[in-house]
Amino acid sequence: MKADLLSMFPEELEAFCVELGQPKYRGKQIFEGLYKGKRDFSEFSTLPKQFREILAENAYIPTASIKRKLVSAIDGTVKYLYSLHDGETVESVFMRYHHGNTMCISTQVGCRMGCAFCASTKAGLVRSLAPSEMLLQILEAERDLGERVSNIVLMGMGEPLDNFDNVIKFLNLVNHKDGLNIGLRHISLSTCGLVNKIDELADLMLPITLSISLHAPNDEIRRQTMPIANKWSIDELLRSCKRYIDKTGRRISFEYALISGVNDSKEHAMELGKLLSGMLCHLNLIPVNPIKEKNFVRSEKNAIKLFTETIETYKINVTVRRRLGADINASCGQLRAEDNKN
Ligand code: SAH
Repeated sequence: MKADLLSMFPEELEAFCVELGQPKYRGKQIFEGLYKGKRDFSEFSTLPKQFREILAENAYIPTASIKRKLVSAIDGTVKYLYSLHDGETVESVFMRYHHGNTMCISTQVGCRMGCAFCASTKAGLVRSLAPSEMLLQILEAERDLGERVSNIVLMGMGEPLDNFDNVIKFLNLVNHKDGLNIGLRHISLSTCGLVNKIDELADLMLPITLSISLHAPNDEIRRQTMPIANKWSIDELLRSCKRYIDKTGRRISFEYALISGVNDSKEHAMELGKLLSGMLCHLNLIPVNPIKEKNFVRSEKNAIKLFTETIETYKINVTVRRRLGADINASCGQLRAEDNKN
């Protein structure tokens, strides 16, 4: 099997070059070239021609080409559909905020978590992404737009903790001072709640922000929309969150998609308020994005207001997510699904 050069740290590239009978410093040359956008061995003019041939026999440079690009006329949000080396596609979204450019990236092609409201999981999991393929979503957007990304959210297609090792390697690569050098504090990882993996993540003590997709105030409702709720109860999930907070000292962010008539009443808000009260956390309310083939409806303005006010009486820090890219269907999974049909 050929080595994926863009998934390697500089030290790994150095060792790889030594293995192929070259001096160590060639590793750094390759690393730098990759981040400058070189995607073909012929472009590495600093490397001897003969070594480039040996490299091509033993390694490859993964690529992501822009298959579709949608730009929002409202707020400049850009949505990409990338085509990977095997023809599979993933989505990413580039968003402009006051505090900098944020990129929402995918961690898997498809997803096997099966959440009822989510477009990414409808066709199941195809495969997990390599660290390089997560990195490429950012590198190619930066190149295309001529702008830098300063924040990353792992909230695109896929369940990051279901691709644990590759996601951790990606985080360390994107944080590398000689690479993109994006601070871990500027990165959020969102999970539907794989309890055992949350504990594993806590052990790594990374200063990222952990987001938990809760979406329900009790197990009964959660099981209706999120199959993972059959494996772990909300009680077990929240206990792992408390362990995470105790261990890392970091605030957790809870995501709650408001679905009309399902989880958005005042009683639901009170139930949720009791669950989260006293925790070092933030609650993000997201009016659900309706997807094709499912008839979930976003909550009314008044219901959102009442829900938010009720939550505030529990002294919980709560915000309603601003919707970017409303005119380009910027919620993930829909572009790929549409493309697969054509
Ligand atoms: N698998 C991870 C990350 C990907 S989804 C997770 O479950 O957290 C990123 C966020 O978008 C999650 O909170 C997810 O539940 C939410 N989401 C998915 N489909 C949605 C929809 N149609 N409307 C609103 N939020 C949605």
